[in-house]
Amino acid sequence: MAKWVYSFEEGNADMRNLLGGKGANLAEMTNLGLPIPQGFTVTTEACTDYYAKGKQISEEIKEQIFTALSQLEEKQGKKFGDTESPLLVSVRSGARASMPGMMDTILNLGLNDVAVEGFASKTGNPRFAYDSYRRFIQMFSDVVMEIPKSFFERILDEIKEGKGVKFDTELTADDLKEVIVRFKAVYKDKMGVDFPQDPKEQLMEAVKAVFRSWDNERAIVYRRMNDIPGDWGTAVNVQAMVFGNMGNTSGTGVAFTRNPSTGAKGIYGEYLINAQGEDVVAGIRTPQPITRLEEDLPECYKQFINIAGKLEDHYRDMQDMEFTIEDGKLFFLQTRNGKRTAQAALQIACDLVDEGMITPQEAVLRIEAKSLDQLLHPTFDPEALKSGLVIGQALPASPGAAAGKVYFTAQEAKTAHEKGERVVLVRLETSPEDIEGMHAAEGILTVRGGMTSHAAVVARGMGTCCVSGCGDISINEEEKVFELGGHVYHEGDYISLDGSTGKIYDGDIKTQEASISGNFGRIMGWADSFRKLKVRTNADTPEDAANAVKYGAEGIGLCRTEHMFFNPDRIPKIRQMILSRTVQEREKALNELIPYQKGDFKALYEVMEGRPVTIRFLDPPLHEFVPTEKDDIDDLAVKMMMTAEEVQEVCDSLHEFNPMMGHRGCRLAVTYPEIARMQTRAVMEAAIEVKQEKGFDIVPEIMIPLVGEKKELKYVKEVVVETAEKVKQEMNSDITYHIGTMIEIPRAALLADEIAEEAEFFSFGTNDLTQMTFGFSRDDAGKFLNEYYKKKIYESDPFARLDQSGVGQLVQMAAEKGRKTRPDIKLGICGEHGGDPSSVEFCHKVGLTYVSCSPFRVPIARLAAAQAAISN
Ligand code: PEP
Ligand code: MG
Repeated sequence: MAKWVYSFEEGNADMRNLLGGKGANLAEMTNLGLPIPQGFTVTTEACTDYYAKGKQISEEIKEQIFTALSQLEEKQGKKFGDTESPLLVSVRSGARASMPGMMDTILNLGLNDVAVEGFASKTGNPRFAYDSYRRFIQMFSDVVMEIPKSFFERILDEIKEGKGVKFDTELTADDLKEVIVRFKAVYKDKMGVDFPQDPKEQLMEAVKAVFRSWDNERAIVYRRMNDIPGDWGTAVNVQAMVFGNMGNTSGTGVAFTRNPSTGAKGIYGEYLINAQGEDVVAGIRTPQPITRLEEDLPECYKQFINIAGKLEDHYRDMQDMEFTIEDGKLFFLQTRNGKRTAQAALQIACDLVDEGMITPQEAVLRIEAKSLDQLLHPTFDPEALKSGLVIGQALPASPGAAAGKVYFTAQEAKTAHEKGERVVLVRLETSPEDIEGMHAAEGILTVRGGMTSHAAVVARGMGTCCVSGCGDISINEEEKVFELGGHVYHEGDYISLDGSTGKIYDGDIKTQEASISGNFGRIMGWADSFRKLKVRTNADTPEDAANAVKYGAEGIGLCRTEHMFFNPDRIPKIRQMILSRTVQEREKALNELIPYQKGDFKALYEVMEGRPVTIRFLDPPLHEFVPTEKDDIDDLAVKMMMTAEEVQEVCDSLHEFNPMMGHRGCRLAVTYPEIARMQTRAVMEAAIEVKQEKGFDIVPEIMIPLVGEKKELKYVKEVVVETAEKVKQEMNSDITYHIGTMIEIPRAALLADEIAEEAEFFSFGTNDLTQMTFGFSRDDAGKFLNEYYKKKIYESDPFARLDQSGVGQLVQMAAEKGRKTRPDIKLGICGEHGGDPSSVEFCHKVGLTYVSCSPFRVPIARLAAAQAAISN
């Protein structure tokens, strides 16, 4: 018979997967002989069994729960539903990874009409007993039966008003009896049956409710944001109640062994005398700092400090503890490794190394790689955020916090910024000419677009907060107004964005600047010494490249050359090239582009000081570049000596139904080899000149995008080689160079062995590879993916976190096939996944040479690569 239930005495800290974090720690604390109210844990496997059986708890599990219950009754010398000495329990969730506040808790379970009398006489405090019972009815109804809280709150308010009192605490025992009668009537009215009087029935319903809460909407969102798999399930902890609200020698509180905001060593926390946990949370009374406990209850304080120290030593990490004092006796209800800010995480990790508690390897593992975002981008002031009103939710496209006045065009955003205003740019979607407005903005909000859409990619590169794909917005860009969550915003109104969670807030929420401490350098230094993967950056401008080098980039893994024309001065030039109708026209346009490209490449080579730079040849999805605004079309007509109608005609002829699968990437160079010729010339001349002028050892890496067939690559490669050799001869240089390709079309992955015959390196373009493997558009998938998460079809955004089982298989296969043909082939990844920790771990396992990501994610990738190397 499988074992589904463990008493606290039977478990230990290593059984986290089975007992959940809370259950494993309660068991461990029991083993350490600490004062823990006893109880038992129903395992996470019971939870998955519950779901497997169509949301049913099997008879076997039920039996084991009741057996554990009898044992608990015996231990406590109390009985469930007893008239004299009733056993009351709390029922709490506890998953493998802590998910604070995401799932359900029920307190005071076991009370009924009879037990409440026993409880009243046992405690000698009828008021307290009736108050506990009414709280239980309320919580059970709300959490287990999903009867809205408001029904109960209304009754409480009515009775308080009738009695002429303001606070719950002013109600007498008799008042509370009346409350109970009315609460039970609500229950009967809503459920059609009486409030359950059998504590065992209460318990089973509560266990089911906790299991159910594993799949509530907020838990699903939390899991997606924190990479927690949906099939882990939650355990349920059933624990004897202790009461902190039994008078002035009782109390309850929460404390940390180190400050969770700064990491400073020393007990930090708060407590309330004569209160239950929910009072602390409800914020009706102001808690005291924990140090006041020394005056109130000195013995308890001494014992508390002593145990807190023991727990930190035992777990070798900062602890977050919940405790209750019942009539002068201290109990620990929970301990866990405390959540902390990134700043605090670095401080604590470094301190623990200095205190000899952990090794540098462990210190590196202790920092959550994603949390480094907090150090490199502004965040909201935590106090200010508490009163923030969320008006909408979108994709967290680029991290950081932003607050500013709404502007609807890039030009207006830029002008307002120049006047010293803080600006949030709100667009249906962004396009290349928005670049300056995006630069000027504190934050960008777009209605359309996914994690790899134009706005997202560009914003991440610049380090600007961006929240994208907010389908709930209705926007009128012409009239400069949008509506979201029942609020209407005009130009100049304030909103705030959290690019790390995707939340959109009403008004101007205070932000705080990013700050990097010496601890950051120390941890990153350790990380670098452990990692095997190299970390490069995706950068298209010298500024971005310089930023990335500052954050530790070891090269450029992707320079998107079409992005070098994202600038109002330059974009007409690339448009001219795209709209050319003859080779002559195109060559003329290209000749104008060469000086820009060469200048840009030289600047990049100079900033990178000899580090490798992969330059990807033009890959403009036409819908991002073909002009749509009348002004732009008129402007282009003048430049190209055409009529506006003619330009419009060419634009129309270029229209594609599926631009992402359209005439882009190497397909452009196959049709118009002069483009590859121009780009090769620019790359080679720039490299040779910088090499000669600055003495850097430059080996150009030319990357051909969107290849699906060896002959396609071979064709473009021949154009490149012919031009490169010509330039070398002209400039009398013996510079070496490499030609490689992106693997971003499934066919290329399948035929990677053939493609490696022509390619000296592969870089996995996992944005397109994901798009084409799943068959959904990287720009539009956000519109329906939410439904997929809700229905648990997909757990995470495949454009943010590499789909290891599908797309990952293609990556792994292509890597193996590539190595078979060319054992020394260099393998990298330059899709947005290159900066996602779980995807980086995958890249480590597959044995890639490097990952490449946007500049601000370079530290995340360095840390994640080290963590992968240490744990694998
Ligand atoms: C990719 O497809 O993953 C990639 C890096 O190229 P782009 O995002 O420019 O299409
Ligand atoms: Mg691509």
